[in-house]
Amino acid sequence: MDDHSTQGHRARKRFGQNFLSDPNIIRKIVDAIRPQPGEKLVEIGPGLGAMTEPLIERVGHLHVVEIDRDLIARLHERYTPAQVTVHEGDALKFDFGSLGAPLRIVGNLPYNISTPILFHLAEFASAVKDMTFMLQKEVVMRMVAEPGSEEYGRLSVMLQYRFRMGRLFDVPPGAFRPAPKVMSSIVRMAPLPVEQLGARDEALLGRIVTAAFGQRRKTLKNTLRDFMTDADFAALGLDPGLRGERLSVAQFVAIANHCTARDAGG
Ligand code: SAM
Repeated sequence: MDDHSTQGHRARKRFGQNFLSDPNIIRKIVDAIRPQPGEKLVEIGPGLGAMTEPLIERVGHLHVVEIDRDLIARLHERYTPAQVTVHEGDALKFDFGSLGAPLRIVGNLPYNISTPILFHLAEFASAVKDMTFMLQKEVVMRMVAEPGSEEYGRLSVMLQYRFRMGRLFDVPPGAFRPAPKVMSSIVRMAPLPVEQLGARDEALLGRIVTAAFGQRRKTLKNTLRDFMTDADFAALGLDPGLRGERLSVAQFVAIANHCTARDAGG
């Protein structure tokens, strides 16, 4: 059986439902978020409200985005509109910009959609003050990985381009009902100032990074052949025999900006 009943609710695997049940861990996470009265705070996937309740106590009012209709009905029963504004639907499609700024986003995220949700949230970085999430540890390790490490890849580069990130602490499977198979970690993400970002064409940066990590065993000469010639590598002082995992975020930005300038004839 995949299902598991918690507080009379059958946990749905397709919505990545593992509910926090350890009061000490819940307190530790909420303390790490450090919510202040009156802040604009949104929780993704409140579920059965493990974090929702203590968050409301500290901020007064909370926005939540939840996809599961049964859980949405419970939220409406349990909280008044003055306490919680419930946004019903898919967080992957939700316009976080509509809530205004500066926005703090938190959540024990559904692990089955962790990468797409991080990329979706990155689009709202300019409206965001910070984000604190629980994700599977393996994903958090990739988010914060340094060049040259095995975990370093597209997720590391694209998120580190836009955010300062730090892994705060790990959470064991026993803190959840039902218990997930994997270890989890808490990660904090704070958007970098816009003037620090530096890519003149961010879509191009995304395409270059995707290509560079598309075939991890291949060198940049191969993976970036649609973007860079030997002369381009030479102009940047980059060894085309390297693999993508060796390049820093700043070097990827330099490649993208070189291509932009070259194609503009500058
Ligand atoms: N915050 C609760 C806790 O810590 O106990 C629940 C966390 S559970 C890992 C993930 C929550 O996200 C569930 O409530 C689930 O229904 C919700 N969810 C799953 N996919 C979603 C989506 N695409 N958009 C919004 N919420 C989603």
